[in-house]
Amino acid sequence: MNSAVARKRMVAELVKRGITDQRVINTMLELPRHIFVEEAMAAQAYSDGSLPIGEKQTISQPYIVARMTELLALTGREKVLELGTGSGYQAAVLATLADRVCTVERIRPLAMKARKALDSLRLLNVNLKIGDGTEGWPEEAPFDAILVTAGAPALPECLVEQLAPGGRLVIPVGDRVDQKLLVIRKAADGSVTREEADDCRFVRLIGKNGWNDE
Ligand code: SAM
Repeated sequence: MNSAVARKRMVAELVKRGITDQRVINTMLELPRHIFVEEAMAAQAYSDGSLPIGEKQTISQPYIVARMTELLALTGREKVLELGTGSGYQAAVLATLADRVCTVERIRPLAMKARKALDSLRLLNVNLKIGDGTEGWPEEAPFDAILVTAGAPALPECLVEQLAPGGRLVIPVGDRVDQKLLVIRKAADGSVTREEADDCRFVRLIGKNGWNDE
């Protein structure tokens, strides 16, 4: 099966599962996910599952990528922060749907591979940094949207501070195995609301304001 046909099937599954944001749907129809995984796994790139990317980390399941992106309600004008670059696929989705993306990965070899994949798609609006994302990226703040793609024990307050008025933050919060997506919204007057969305299961967010073990 060629990759365009495989993507069409994958996206049809996402729509069946409730994804409705047409911009997210169009982006995931277009973006090649297979270039973000090891060549040996390319055949599985369009199944709705997470896959290992080395360093005991994973590329997230397409459904959760679509769902988290949909929750950010991007219009194309936003500056977005992603914590946990991993393979770079989620950053590529965000870069296609927003104006600028800042993304942070703590594991250097993953960051290097992700940069290569993003460059191969000429996604030049992605600024990638190696470091501890649990502190956000204060020099680049404020952000219109923040997406955390690793599971945190609690919401790091510094991320709420780095959110612009009108901004949205989506983060999986829970224990080491199971989490719930938290959606934080900052109103124009600076007041903050929080809402719980889907159950999920992410690798751990490790760092100063995350889990403090390996
Ligand atoms: N968004 C990724 C993608 O599209 O492939 C998937 C992310 S993977 C589930 C989680 C990533 O978060 C891992 O690559 C891990 O190294 C990274 N990570 C964990 N703690 C981090 C931290 N404090 N700062 C930055 N990255 C972190």
